Amino acid sequence: MKVCSTIDQAREACRKARRAGARIGLVPTMGALHDGHLSLVRAAKSQSNFVVASIFVNPLQFAPTEDFSKYPRTFERDRDLLEHEGVDLIFAPSVAEMYSKDAVTYVNVEGLSELLDGKSRPGHFRGVTTVVAKLFDILDPDAAFFGQKDAAQVAIIRRMVLDLNMPVEIVACPIVREPDGLAMSSRNAYLDADQRQQALVLHRSLAEVQKRFDQGERCAARLIEAGKEVLQREPSVRLDYLEIVNLDTLEPVESAAQGGLVAVAAYAGTTRLIDNVVLKLNRP
Ligand code: AMP
Repeated sequence: MKVCSTIDQAREACRKARRAGARIGLVPTMGALHDGHLSLVRAAKSQSNFVVASIFVNPLQFAPTEDFSKYPRTFERDRDLLEHEGVDLIFAPSVAEMYSKDAVTYVNVEGLSELLDGKSRPGHFRGVTTVVAKLFDILDPDAAFFGQKDAAQVAIIRRMVLDLNMPVEIVACPIVREPDGLAMSSRNAYLDADQRQQALVLHRSLAEVQKRFDQGERCAARLIEAGKEVLQREPSVRLDYLEIVNLDTLEPVESAAQGGLVAVAAYAGTTRLIDNVVLKLNRP
């Protein structure tokens, strides 16, 4: 496994793989890896023959008030995990390598970037799309693997790839959960034991919405209300949003249908957690 910290080295390593006929799969991450990330690596391994994982805590997607400086950084452990999975190349640039001090160019997917997390985290998705566009340009992958955990991110990146005619297949992979249902996240490391228990309410609220949907409820407002009632039973968890939206446009729907995205964001202590479920039609 090769580890590159410069753009030139990483670009050259991918060019060489491509010249040798490889299909390149990219897994972009911010490190502090867990099984959710590794599931993307495994999907990339099964669908490509040269797998690149990037590790970059991207300052552009954090607001000044957010956790950029305290975000967990565990490079040695991440490197060992990725090596064990059979990754071919790690691209782990510094901030200075990725952004020159006078950079003024951004990629912004208008509209979609202001919905869901974009509402409470202005500029977040612009930071994401800018860094992902740069990674695509540097590494030129055939396919890139993202977690459905960040469902809005997937929709926004799909839109970017369509609008800018980027020759990259976007593969969305299922949410990996802890045995008790909590969606895996690098930010779970911030939770103390009480908050870790309280955080389970996100998953419970989504399960309630799916259950009411199974029972025949289609009115989005009533489904959302049912989910919020569950969240209110855990008053120490502060809701940011619970919405039912179209999976591609992220626009709220009035009537829920199979394939609709139920997305929730809430704070346990100061830790912002997100989770979601795509509504399924379960036959009774
Ligand atoms: P991050 O390091 O948080 O930027 O995440 C890197 C990639 O891993 C993103 O595509 C995330 O959606 C994905 N990811 C994070 N957590 C999970 C999870 N629990 N299940 C599946 N994918 C995940």
